[in-house]
Amino acid sequence: MSDGTRDAAWWHSLRSKLKNWYDQSHRDLPWRETKDPYRIWISEIMLQQTQVATVIDYYHRFLAAFPDVQTLASADEQEVLALWAGLGYYRRARQMHAAAKGIVEELDGQFPSTLEGVLDLPGVGRYTAGAITSFAYDLPSPILEANTIRLFSRLIKFEEDVTKRESQTKLWEFAVELVAVKKQSPGKLNQAAMELGSQVCVPKSPSCTSCPVSKICPTFHDGLQDRIPKPKAKKQYIDQSHVLVAVQRKGKLLLRRNQKGEWWEGLWDFPRAALPKFLKNQKQIKSLTPIQEVLEEELRSRFSLSFVCNSWFHSLKHAVTKYKIQLHCYTAELDDKLPSGEEDWKWFKPSEAAELPLTASAKRVLKQWNRQMDAKKSMLS
Ligand code: SF4
Repeated sequence: MSDGTRDAAWWHSLRSKLKNWYDQSHRDLPWRETKDPYRIWISEIMLQQTQVATVIDYYHRFLAAFPDVQTLASADEQEVLALWAGLGYYRRARQMHAAAKGIVEELDGQFPSTLEGVLDLPGVGRYTAGAITSFAYDLPSPILEANTIRLFSRLIKFEEDVTKRESQTKLWEFAVELVAVKKQSPGKLNQAAMELGSQVCVPKSPSCTSCPVSKICPTFHDGLQDRIPKPKAKKQYIDQSHVLVAVQRKGKLLLRRNQKGEWWEGLWDFPRAALPKFLKNQKQIKSLTPIQEVLEEELRSRFSLSFVCNSWFHSLKHAVTKYKIQLHCYTAELDDKLPSGEEDWKWFKPSEAAELPLTASAKRVLKQWNRQMDAKKSMLS
């Protein structure tokens, strides 16, 4: 079987096998029960960079708070971010909020119904616009994302690096052809291709023997599943250490809202700073000697405020873009006054802090802090 076998019969066979398999085998997901473009849009934005299992609860909570584009448009940004907290990539939430306002103000509250109209929304790229318009309106809009890139590459035995521009062009052409026939249910074909890619044609050891399209798959025929798509070069991370301080005063914790241009813009966090060197020595991290001065100096130079670190209470790992971060958390005191009229530094009771749009790592730190406070209280009682 070669790459030249994709004639009309091949396409006909692919489309009908995909749709039949989808009818019988697809997972029931909440956003598949609707044709409402608003709901599909919310799900698609949440699903960018986030697993299905994680998105389901967020999707329900978000729609309970903002059931339509009008309620989202009139919401306060902090409310939107609070419901997004933990999903990461907060720019998505901000852009969605801006798009909702635009729909209400400029489109009379009507969600756009063409591919071009949806593409004009902030934060919507070619894939998302294709997904919304094909799922909601059954338009013949192509889609290409991680699962379909893998499936399509295998269906055309494409051995090149799929991240290259020419490769993307070729795969988009395949995606266009797949949904080119309007009466062949483009929305269902797109859903089926994504589902097959995510459930059967998986990266490692795809389930070819139970795959509905194995008879017309040249990659399976030639046993090239491990080589297609071409494995990506491993992402190189940079290790970093950060210091975070939990400053308590009269039962309240000091938090800061991240500024424009900083990581996690608009979200609240404990005061934290990146350290010039990656810390490895666990004894030093926990005892604070001889690193205390370095920690305090980095906090001072970041915030122009003096903190005095008291004791270590937790360390955790997380990743941001190309950085693998080890975050070391200390109880501390603020040896300075907060700048007057400063709205982005505030004291919160731990219960109030839990309701804020916090960074994901701040949420984890707050949980740990509460746990340790509860343990201390129960020891004293
Ligand atoms: S036969 Fe195997 S490689 Fe081909 S599409 Fe199906 S799962 Fe993927």
